[in-house]
Amino acid sequence: MALLAMWVSVNCKKMELKNMEESNNEKRKKAIGAGRPSQRRTVGQTTPCEVCGATQWDEDEKRGETFCGNCGHVSEVNAIDPGAEWTNYTDGADRSRVGAPPRESLADKGLNTTISRGDISGAGARIHGIKGSEARSWRRRVLIDERSKNRSSRTRNLTRAMQFIRDRANLPPSLVEEACRLYRYAANENIVTGRSIRGVSAACAYIAAREAHLPRSIEEIAESFDMTDELAMKELTRTIRLLSRCLGAHHITGPGEYLDKFHSDLNLPAPVLGEANKLWSRVGDSMEWQGKKPAGVAAAMLYMAAKNCDYSQTQSQVCKVAGVSEVTLRGLMRILEKLLALLDGEAN
Ligand SMILES: [Zn+2]
Repeated sequence: MALLAMWVSVNCKKMELKNMEESNNEKRKKAIGAGRPSQRRTVGQTTPCEVCGATQWDEDEKRGETFCGNCGHVSEVNAIDPGAEWTNYTDGADRSRVGAPPRESLADKGLNTTISRGDISGAGARIHGIKGSEARSWRRRVLIDERSKNRSSRTRNLTRAMQFIRDRANLPPSLVEEACRLYRYAANENIVTGRSIRGVSAACAYIAAREAHLPRSIEEIAESFDMTDELAMKELTRTIRLLSRCLGAHHITGPGEYLDKFHSDLNLPAPVLGEANKLWSRVGDSMEWQGKKPAGVAAAMLYMAAKNCDYSQTQSQVCKVAGVSEVTLRGLMRILEKLLALLDGEAN
């Protein structure tokens, strides 16, 4: 009898616990509705399916696709969900996250709260009603706040590297982010240990640009990162090789990818770029370019294109931008002329 009573009480306890758990879950659910409040709508699907003519649209929320419920035709992919981001891991019931998107190019991804110096001095302080003595204590708080954030050596390392990449890489914003992402990866894989922050961040900038088909020459990167002396250059090329191997980033730069860059560096008008691209599409498949420096080949295309469009450049101007010697350029021009003559001969 006593045993039964105990069993009952234990079971009751279990039930109680379960009920409590359920009510907690219920609370969490109730406060935010049933899961993440998606705001995705079947926007733009006002016409019947172009395959079968049905108007029965359905959507796959996980994949962001709108598809025909009748025949399965996918009419919209990568739909943007303007609903709240659902990644707040605090204990509260509300899991939505607001604020700017994380930025790879800041050591803390831009997610920390910082006290702006503008808010505690001058006009900013007056707006917030901060007086002289208070301002001093606020300044101390700012200092403590900043120091506490950069305590670990890893954070300090990241802060310096991100600064290097932002200031010196001379890349468009999306590529700065990509270079910083590569650096983080390198730091996680312990590639940074024992190498200079300057060298690794320069290598990241180089690889990010190369993989995005907007190549920068090693010399150019070396110059902007102050690594022009022989030893530093050696370190840079070695780090680039190592990083490419670790990242599996082995994109080989072709001459066509240099045309945009050199064209803008030479301040040439738009038609010249079109002409250069046309030249490259005509002769690009030839085996004659095997083993030739891509930057030099691109320079030859642009030089020829400029001449064809009556915007003549001197050879030395073109060579300076491409980083090749005039002898090289003349040699490549001879190959180009020969190929063009051959193609013209075939056409006639
Ligand atoms: Zn259909």
